[in-house]
Amino acid sequence: MAKYRSIAIDGPAGAGKSTIAKLTAERLGFIYIDTGAMYRALAVYFLENGIDINDEQSVSAAVKNATVSIKHAKGEQHVFLNGRDVSGLLRAEKVGDAASKTSAYRAVREHLLSLQREQAEKADVIMDGRDIGTAILPDADLKIYLDASCDERARRRLLQLKEKGLESESFEKLKEEIRERDYRDMHRQVSPLKKAEGAIVIDSTEMSVEEVGKKIEALLREKTEA
Ligand code: C5P
Repeated sequence: MAKYRSIAIDGPAGAGKSTIAKLTAERLGFIYIDTGAMYRALAVYFLENGIDINDEQSVSAAVKNATVSIKHAKGEQHVFLNGRDVSGLLRAEKVGDAASKTSAYRAVREHLLSLQREQAEKADVIMDGRDIGTAILPDADLKIYLDASCDERARRRLLQLKEKGLESESFEKLKEEIRERDYRDMHRQVSPLKKAEGAIVIDSTEMSVEEVGKKIEALLREKTEA
């Protein structure tokens, strides 16, 4: 069986994971897998169906009725919820917030586990999220923990929301939300966000996208040619 190559990128919100992963995927001919989008698709399901996202039992019962799948078209990942393309709904802050809360529940994480692992069995992938190097692909060829200061991450998120024409709060409010989200992601019991064993930390606060991309490519060469 052919062994495909894989790169795992974890890190807090706004560290630049998706931008870097997309760029690297394009350059190396890998498929970019955005796992946050899968949690966001489930969040859309909970919100649309009036499920109380603070109630683990209700969410755990409801998640069984939500099937998430992905397809790639022109390098873009499309996420389907029970057969409907919900890709356009995923970036709203409300959806991100619900994803952050519900992704802490075991049933929600288990629901997406095989969908995520399967991707690395059929192509070279670069996958980003919070537990890719620790839980989903612990044997990835390269594991990166991408970080940046909280101020820089809030600034990037604000820019991203503006570019997408989405409403957003003030910089200070956004920073506070990012802090809350990081805290939840790092302190939950199931698969908390942390640096995976053997992962290389890249602090992108003062690095350009180009610099981070180059660094990752060089690290992959080192790892796979060694
Ligand atoms: O990365 P993104 O902001 O799209 O992720 C939304 C939320 O989904 C995160 O705040 C995090 O709580 C959750 N998530 C996760 N594990 C992943 C990817 C995302 O818990 N692998």
